Order: sequence, then structure tokens, then C-alpha cells
Amino acid sequence: MSAVPDPDPRPPRRPATRAVEAGRAANDRSLSTPLWATSTWEAAGLDDANRRATAARGAQFYSRYANPTVRAFEDAVADLEGAESALAFASGMGAVATVVLALCSAGDHVVAQRQLYAGTLAFLQGPCRRFGIDVTLVDGSVPGAFAEAVRPGRTMLVVAETPSNPRLDLVDLDELGRLRGPFTVVDSTLATPLGQQPLRHGIHLSLHSATKGIAGHNDATLGVVAGEAELLDAIWAYGVLHGATPSPFDALNALRGVRTLDVRLQRQATTARRLADALAGHTAVGEVRYPGLPDHPQHALAATQMTSFGSMLAVDLHGGRPAASAFLDHLRLARVATSLGGPETLVCHPATSTHASLTPAEATACGVTAGLLRISVGLEDPDDLVEDLVGALDARPDDYR
Ligand SMILES: *Cc1c(COP(=O)(O)O)cnc(C)c1O
Repeated sequence: MSAVPDPDPRPPRRPATRAVEAGRAANDRSLSTPLWATSTWEAAGLDDANRRATAARGAQFYSRYANPTVRAFEDAVADLEGAESALAFASGMGAVATVVLALCSAGDHVVAQRQLYAGTLAFLQGPCRRFGIDVTLVDGSVPGAFAEAVRPGRTMLVVAETPSNPRLDLVDLDELGRLRGPFTVVDSTLATPLGQQPLRHGIHLSLHSATKGIAGHNDATLGVVAGEAELLDAIWAYGVLHGATPSPFDALNALRGVRTLDVRLQRQATTARRLADALAGHTAVGEVRYPGLPDHPQHALAATQMTSFGSMLAVDLHGGRPAASAFLDHLRLARVATSLGGPETLVCHPATSTHASLTPAEATACGVTAGLLRISVGLEDPDDLVEDLVGALDARPDDYR
């Protein structure tokens, strides 16, 4: 260590700047990150081959172990999350499955919230139970719920998601970060790394489906987890065997998404708030859920832990499934599709699509009613979107009784 001050200290940069700057360490003089479309690298003899094969997260050995394009994306996400390191996967579910199976063994206990992405819930309730991993589900929006369900010495992992899919329930990150004993992972997909940073609240791992807002253009399928390097090295050691390896091309698309994430998120959040206000006053609507709305039950919490209220809202229509169906039929701009965080506004009916595999009791427990619609707000002109969505509600008033 030298006591001589750095003559050219880099000033700390704000998040939007870091989204543009991060992940360039291996670019040489290229502004755009090169696409390393290779599965393997040539070694210069036995010693070099051995060095490449045995280095943790070994660079330039074999792409299931590591790939420079993927690494650039991982470095950018780590920077935005305030993490030592990040690790990418072939999908958000690849990240979920690898993290859970890397950290948990038969006989271990997991606490998870009920309000989870349906794939995560299905993974915890299906394969995990089959492998002897015991799972307790709690209401993640209730203070103290996670802590109460933890069994000291047995609970290995706590799985939370905030804001949750599809009803935008929140988890108190400070409270979860104070939990001692189990590892904590927060699925932060709906917030994006610019909307909240779970690690700053003491959470061990922040997880994203980068398919969504991070990549942001519906052209990549990718997952990523950020946290301490030592923990990620352990997850990586299992992950190379699990094999949910990201494609370098998808990582390149997602890194391009990171560059514009700040402006996209700002535009989407502003429009989402406008739509939430426009829909909340409509007679056809029972409830609008958006963390930025003052009457969201956890709005105060959202204001303390989120730097953007995000691009997602949920609307519960009077009239159940027929009303939801009529509404979708009358949309002329917003599209009926799953996924979120892209340029096009997408509306999905969780009860018949993302959450169709839930039993009626499970659907009720996580608030997926027959009239619930999830809206991913895109980048279209906000006036066009208000006209389209309010117009679709006005079109068939008889359906919303
Ligand atoms: C989409 C999504 C996932 C799964 O991600 P994939 O990339 O589709 O595998 C996990 N969590 C949340 C909150 C999601 O929206």
C-alpha cells in the first residue's frame, strides 16, 4: 500500500453514467464490446492448458466456464448493483435453478414468498420438493413473515421478489437484509439494477431475468446474479455442471440494453404513472397496482427503497375473465403477450397465461384474480397509450359490470 495519493482519482460516477461506462475492461480500443462467438480456446502447451482449465471462472478456456463477451455484461451489472461480481445464465430460470441447487441440498429448508414469478414458484414446489428440499411459503409483504418462518440451522436460503410479479407487492429490503443465518436472494427483475440495489440493504444476492428490462428489446433470453465474488465462485462451480450457460450473443444484446437502461426506465416509469392515474379513475376498474401511486399499500416503502417505480402496473377489472377478454380484444396498440421491460407495451392475463398452472387456491393466495391484467409499459407516446387503454375500457361498458 502506498500513501501517495492517486494523481488522477476517478470521481465517483452516477448510475446512468456507470451504465454507459461499465464493462469495458477488455474492449481494447473498440467502443462496442466484441462478440466472442467461440466455444473454446487454444492452449500453448500443457502448463497453459492446465492453468486455463483450473482457474476459477477461468477466462479463455471453454465458453461453458467463461466467455469475454458474457464477462463484459456481468461486469456492467455488478457495477450497477454495487456488487463485487456478477454471473450470467441462459435465462432468469437458469439463474434461479442454479442458485437454489448450488446452495441447497436434500434436507435443507428454503423460505420463499408466495408472490413469486410462476416459474420460480413451480421450481420450488416441484423439483425442489422432489429433491428433498423443504420449502415454506410466506406472504412477503407482511413485516416479519420471512424471519418467523426461518428454522435456525436448517434454513439455507430465503427467496424474495420485489416488486413481485404480477401484482407489484413489495418486500422490505432492509428487514430482509437484517436476517442472520440463511443466504438471501432477491429477484429484482421488475425494478432493474437502476430501480433498486438489494445488496445495499444487506441482501446476499440480487437476481434478474435480464430477458426483461435489462436487455430491454425482447431479443435476448438471459439471467444474471450479483453478489460477493466468493459466493458467486461457489455458485459458478456448480453452474458449470448445471449448464444453464448464457449465449455470448444474448449477453451482447443485453449489454447494449444496459447502455440505454436509464432513459428507457425513466420514460417507461413516467408513462406507467400516467396510465395508472388514467385507469384508476375508470368505472370499469376495481384496483390499479403501481408502487408509484400514493394509494399503493406499500407506497411509502417503495419511496424509500426504489429509485424508480418501474415500468409495470397491474389492473383488476370488474367483470372477471369476460371483462379482461373484451378489454384485450379492443386494444389497437398494446399487444397481448407475456414478458416485460421491452419497447412495446404488452398486456398479459396472468390467470390464463403466466399463472395458468396454479391451482385456484394458489392463484387466490398470490392475488391472481380472473380480472387481473399485468401491463408492461413500453416506449410509445404516452398519449397514444392512454387513448388505447382507456379506449378499450370505454368500448364495451356492458362487459365491466
Ligand atoms: C421472467 C421472469 C423470470 C424468469 O426469467 P426467464 O428469463 O424467462 O427465464 C424470473 N423472475 C421474474 C420476476 C421474471 O419476470
